[in-house]
Amino acid sequence: MPTIVDCPTCGKKVEWTAENKYRPFCSERCKQIDLGAWAEEKYVIPVVNPPKDPNEDGN
Ligand SMILES: [Zn+2]
Repeated sequence: MPTIVDCPTCGKKVEWTAENKYRPFCSERCKQIDLGAWAEEKYVIPVVNPPKDPNEDGN
């Protein structure tokens, strides 16, 4: 009896079997979508407040 998992991309039931090389995804397409999303997040730079300009307190 194979283990059933949910495809992380579309939520479809997927049999976790050795034959399913895309597990835990249901298909190559869903795997690519997930990898793409992950790669995009990698390029999101956290917003950091710029350091205060030391010359700001003019005289
Ligand atoms: Zn899927």
